[in-house]
Amino acid sequence: MPEGDAVWRTARRLHQGLSGRTLVRTDFRVPALATADLSGGTITETVSRGKHLLTHIDARAVGGESWTLHTHLKMEGSWRIYAPGERWGKAGHTARVVLDTGEKVGVGFQLGIVELVLREHEDQVVGHLGPDLLGPDWDEHEAVRRLTSDPERPLGEALLDQRNLAGIGTIYRTELCFLTGYDPRSPVSVVADPLRMVRLAHTLLFQNRHLPQIATTGDKRRGRSLWIYGKRNERCPRCGTPIAYGELGEQARSAYWCPSCQPPR
Ligand SMILES: [Zn+2]
Repeated sequence: MPEGDAVWRTARRLHQGLSGRTLVRTDFRVPALATADLSGGTITETVSRGKHLLTHIDARAVGGESWTLHTHLKMEGSWRIYAPGERWGKAGHTARVVLDTGEKVGVGFQLGIVELVLREHEDQVVGHLGPDLLGPDWDEHEAVRRLTSDPERPLGEALLDQRNLAGIGTIYRTELCFLTGYDPRSPVSVVADPLRMVRLAHTLLFQNRHLPQIATTGDKRRGRSLWIYGKRNERCPRCGTPIAYGELGEQARSAYWCPSCQPPR
């Protein structure tokens, strides 16, 4: 699943490719939006909010409304921009949204969420999110307040909860816990300096925002870019102990930790 930095890059690409252009055709291939038609509207911007994408489409000049197209990549989703008539790189039946501006065509494939809300109601879809690690309004103190609001909650679950911080996925969760020396199963209350942890999360996502893949080690080479994520039973790069693996939380999301460097508390 793409994490906040990858979603940020997707928003940037969509914004650069489509903003300022008027739609000549739209196709929403989800049942709830089967009859929606925003042709004539102008795409004004695409922004990310945590792992959510918000594309603003203003159709007021043609007698419509100001809309927010809310999409989420979830596990397999992606957005691509094509020239008119260009062959799509993915199977057509997996397309969920087509935004055709005549000169550029934005296609969203396998999107986990596709919905249209009036711009003024945008908060209904993203208002629950905590401070956005890559947002212009990033607020580290509010992030700490939310992260520590349930002290008994396992740290790994709290870090992944987008209502606390928006943008962290399973890779950053694992690497953050390793870098700070905490077992992701330990309660949040064991973290001695939550502000440091939140700042580290921000630094990592910010440093990676332009990179094609996540690097937390400072080494961008394939296979060396992460400390322990995806390295079940491999040796800890610090102490040589085999890396442990487990599934955390109701959604049973992957977690890795070094039993020596991240002792249970
Ligand atoms: Zn270790």
